Amino acid sequence: MSKKILIVAGDGIGPEVMGEVERVIAWYNDKRGFDADIENELVGGCCYDAHGVAVTDETVEKAKKADAVLLGAVGGPKWDNVPYEGRPEAGLLRLRKDLELFANLRPALCFSALADASSLKREIVEGLDIMIVRELTGGVYFGEPKEITDLGNGERRGVDTQVYTTGEIRRIAEVAFDLARKRDNRVMSVEKRNVMKSGVLWYEEVAKLHKEKFSDVTLENMLADNCAMQLVRNPKQFDVIVTDNLFGDVLSDIASMLTGSLGMLPSASLGAKDANGKACAMYEPVHGSAPDIAGTGAANPIASILSFAMALRYTFELGADADLLEKAVDTVLADGLRTGDIMQDGMKKVGTTEMGDAILAALDKLNG
Ligand code: NAD
Repeated sequence: MSKKILIVAGDGIGPEVMGEVERVIAWYNDKRGFDADIENELVGGCCYDAHGVAVTDETVEKAKKADAVLLGAVGGPKWDNVPYEGRPEAGLLRLRKDLELFANLRPALCFSALADASSLKREIVEGLDIMIVRELTGGVYFGEPKEITDLGNGERRGVDTQVYTTGEIRRIAEVAFDLARKRDNRVMSVEKRNVMKSGVLWYEEVAKLHKEKFSDVTLENMLADNCAMQLVRNPKQFDVIVTDNLFGDVLSDIASMLTGSLGMLPSASLGAKDANGKACAMYEPVHGSAPDIAGTGAANPIASILSFAMALRYTFELGADADLLEKAVDTVLADGLRTGDIMQDGMKKVGTTEMGDAILAALDKLNG
């Protein structure tokens, strides 16, 4: 049976970078027997223009049925003044919510050729390969009460509630342990159990699950503030980091900047497995729709292409195919090709399509 991929390219540079992803998928269909059917749908501002909503019910249903959803980016100044419910981000948030994507995977991978683009020294980031697993649907961003109240004495009080249940902690920790087994087999669980009850529960439940099912994986624990510092001091000490929604938000942004440009950063969001073992999954670059360069053919397609590599690895369980694609990107960078966002002295500047051409040529060469 054909694999089903839904592409929602979105706005701005979304369609440009996803065009290159479609060419890569076609290559895998032709040369590696990947056998995927692609469908395209609208999301974000373009969907608002066509249908008056940022994503339609039909697209949400298609996304649920697809093996993987590949998203480009949404948003742009054109939609700054649309009603709140119709804003482009609402489409993205609805997809994440309706597909119950509770696990956000953000790799921080430093390609050698780009090590000098990091704000840290080459020796600290060269060869970096860490994975941050962030809980995405719970914690302080969603906990109730969440309100601002008037205390009646000229003071107001803002409240957010950090709340996690055993089940929420166990399912995200399970994702992290599973991933670690496919990598260097080490998990760093991050919380603040010294000052937060939810941190104590997090610590205890991760330890319990580890003992029950994952004692072959090395588990260590770190306080979130220390983890932020260690990510900048010595990031290569980590393999998989698992943490809650708030700490994950901050730590994954710190980690991503270790590797240089936004145009290089992929991500995955995964849902729970159903009775047949199928999990909803959405893969997307970390960057936005880059309205400043949209339509100029200058966007870097690598973050989106590496997001497809994550789909190969995590949804389709084709690790060797994912390795091949990452190797092709590495080769092209080592050959000195650069889009504007990662341009360095002495390198050759190329546009979106030329970068896609070069990655396809590298795939051909590596595939023999
Ligand atoms: P952005 O990521 O779109 O752009 C930030 C800077 O990085 C820009 O200078 C841009 O040109 C550059 N850049 C980003 N991706 C690039 C790429 N692939 N190649 C080359 N250069 C790249 O962030 P922003 O400017 O803050 O936001 C622009 C719009 O995107 C806003 O409407 C915002 O809401 C939206 N946004 C969407 C997402 C998403 O869809 N997931 C994420 C972030 C921002």
